[in-house]
Amino acid sequence: MSQTNNIYDLAVNGVRQLVPYIAGKPIEELERELGLTNIIKLASNENPLGPGKKALAAIQAALPKLTLYPDGNGFNLKAALAKKYALNVDQITLGNGSNELLELVARAFLAPGLEAMFSQHAFAVYPIVTQAVGANAVIVPALHFGNDLEAMAARISDLTRVIFIANPNNPTGTLLSQADLEQFISALPKHCLCVLDEAYFEFVGDKEGINSLDWLKQNPNLIITRTFSKAYGLAGLRIGYGLSSPEIADILNRVRQPFNNNALALVAAEAALEDTDYLQQTIAVNSQGMSELTAGFKSLGLEWIPSAGNFVSVDLKRPGQSVYEALLRKGVIVRPVANYGLPNHLRISIGTPAENQFFLKALAETLANV
Ligand SMILES: *Cc1c(COP(=O)(O)O)cnc(C)c1O
Repeated sequence: MSQTNNIYDLAVNGVRQLVPYIAGKPIEELERELGLTNIIKLASNENPLGPGKKALAAIQAALPKLTLYPDGNGFNLKAALAKKYALNVDQITLGNGSNELLELVARAFLAPGLEAMFSQHAFAVYPIVTQAVGANAVIVPALHFGNDLEAMAARISDLTRVIFIANPNNPTGTLLSQADLEQFISALPKHCLCVLDEAYFEFVGDKEGINSLDWLKQNPNLIITRTFSKAYGLAGLRIGYGLSSPEIADILNRVRQPFNNNALALVAAEAALEDTDYLQQTIAVNSQGMSELTAGFKSLGLEWIPSAGNFVSVDLKRPGQSVYEALLRKGVIVRPVANYGLPNHLRISIGTPAENQFFLKALAETLANV
């Protein structure tokens, strides 16, 4: 055994070269750094309305039981999801955020020598979970900032085990047609899993009368992931879910932690599913905010990538980092996306009308000064 003084040399290959995920800057951090108050954060695609009343009431009611372990099988939440989507309980996997599902898929289906595929400008967690297990990433050039399904199909090899597709995609907001997606998924070779990441599914309006859940029957190699972090406003609790064949769910269940969902997340998510008023309000605030922001960009002479999510990436025609930093000094946190191969864009999460106006004013002032 060779001697080393460097702990980094002991980390496994994939991990040694990993670059950690860059999260949106927390409000408290900017408060500490600049001594500002009244900071607004439009950086992590969180719900600007705050959590719904029903979720909060369920959390309150569950507090006295926190000495007990949570239900490791999430019986009640799975039953509620199964009912809502007309699926069987054995097709559902709960995760600590839908991020955990991405990681469970990588652990269960990828290894050194195997390949995961995803698009240029795809969600940053896909390369991280792929590299962490030592698998190779095949990154397919984007088409109009989105997934190029034809190019992806052409790159599938005997070694391809997992294809990650976010629809809508984050950070570009691009949306694939359901018909094209269905065709792509049904033509996949049997040795190849598709993770269809629908973190922003609730924000997509017209779905062409086609529902991705209908594809599960014919495609045992499909897993659809969704989350309570975005439209349901529970990002801080960390809860998401996968919908798949019972076989995929069984495999993921073997590698997950026994209590991967905390007790408050389980009850809050179940209550949130019932809160249709909150969901409708969320969607209305989002579509109004999207119009406000894009109208503001237009009047500033800026172009943006049309988005189906609760965020929009705007092209500043200059390095986004300097505009980002100037906005921070005005108390607005947005998201640089240079690490996604978009150095001149910033991604803005849709806020409340007041937040959107505050941001647009700060942006106009910033652009007038740089
Ligand atoms: C936000 C997001 C997720 C999910 O995050 P969780 O909070 O872990 O559920 C997954 N995929 C994409 C593309 C996202 O933007």
